[in-house]
Amino acid sequence: MFIFKNNDDLRRLLDKIKNKKLKIGFVPTMGALHEGHLSLIASAKKQTDFVVTSIFVNPTQFNDQTDLAKYPRTLEKDIALLAQADNHLLYAPSVAQVYPKNFNKNRVFHLKGLDNLLEGAFRPGHFNGVAMAVHRLLEIVQPDAIFMGQKDYQQATIIKQLIQSEKLKTKLVMCPIIRSPKGLALSSRNARLSDEWLNKALILSKTLNFAQAAINAKKSIRLIEKEAMQKIEAAGLRPEYFTIINGNTLKNARYSDNKMVAVTAAWAGDVRLIDNMIL
Ligand code: AMP
Repeated sequence: MFIFKNNDDLRRLLDKIKNKKLKIGFVPTMGALHEGHLSLIASAKKQTDFVVTSIFVNPTQFNDQTDLAKYPRTLEKDIALLAQADNHLLYAPSVAQVYPKNFNKNRVFHLKGLDNLLEGAFRPGHFNGVAMAVHRLLEIVQPDAIFMGQKDYQQATIIKQLIQSEKLKTKLVMCPIIRSPKGLALSSRNARLSDEWLNKALILSKTLNFAQAAINAKKSIRLIEKEAMQKIEAAGLRPEYFTIINGNTLKNARYSDNKMVAVTAAWAGDVRLIDNMIL
């Protein structure tokens, strides 16, 4: 596996790959890799010829600096997992490589308001930071396809919008959520949960299943949301939202919508978890 920290080295190799007419797949991550990330790499390997995974803990998307400081960093272990997964290239740049001195960190991306809802309402500026990093990484890597997880449904929707509004040539592939055998969506943040919280956090996927059953039974959507919040709270978590949204506009869903998604965020102690289910 190639490992590059420097943009010039990376571009030199990727230009050769492009000249050979090979398709480049890109998997952006913040490291602390798990099966969820590896599933994106597996999809990228199936659909493209050369897979670039990046590990970059992007400071511009953390509205809470303690969250940034606490973010797990496990580079040596990540490199071993990537090699095992037969990933072709790891791009692990420094902040200065991604955001050089003259880079405009004040740029505001126009994301059709998708960035102000849900996660955006609870984490102001978060998605502008995500868009900034992904836009810059796409400029550096120039992939044919970018692979992102449904785990971050709103994020993937926003990046699809970014690609459209910036008229980029990259195609976005959204890959399914990988869960633990008991149903907890895998996340780098789970490493910070005690056994007790890991158990309590199962209420999130259970409540998403409840919402699916209630939607099948044509119950009132707003009532389902209310009951879901109560279930999460009763299990000892602190829910921020449980909302059933239109999968395209991310606004409150109606039964007439062709794609509905239940999305939720909740605190398990001092760890903030998100999960969702396409209904
Ligand atoms: P992160 O390192 O958390 O920024 O995630 C990098 C990518 O992996 C994002 O596209 C996530 O949506 C995706 N991802 C994270 N967890 C999972 C999961 N459990 N299943 C599938 N994809 C995931």
